[in-house]
Amino acid sequence: MSKKIKRDLENWYPICITRTGPTKKAYGHNVSGHLMPCCWCFKTNDPDINVLNQEHLKIENVDSIEEIVLSDEWLKFTNTLANDPLNAPKTCWKYCGKGKGYAVKKHETYE
Ligand code: SF4
Repeated sequence: MSKKIKRDLENWYPICITRTGPTKKAYGHNVSGHLMPCCWCFKTNDPDINVLNQEHLKIENVDSIEEIVLSDEWLKFTNTLANDPLNAPKTCWKYCGKGKGYAVKKHETYE
């Protein structure tokens, strides 16, 4: 593993799962009615985020928010952030990877 990637991983700080209390990044929902892990994910073309934008994961299509956050898609997403950051979405590296020029995902993130 290169020094740059090691540095990036040391600075990896996905605040939706690492912080608690008032400074934690809060869930929200986007205009299509899907729960999103944070406001940075509301409007993006990032396919690794858009996996959470499926019809069966719409808030109107479930009985509880737990049904969404415990879905296979959300558990995989959260597990990637926590345990497999090298495969985390580019959007997450952009906002929670701390710093421009990171080596892990150096091509531009989706907007
Ligand atoms: S950008 Fe990704 S890692 Fe950061 S708070 Fe949002 S969902 Fe979590």
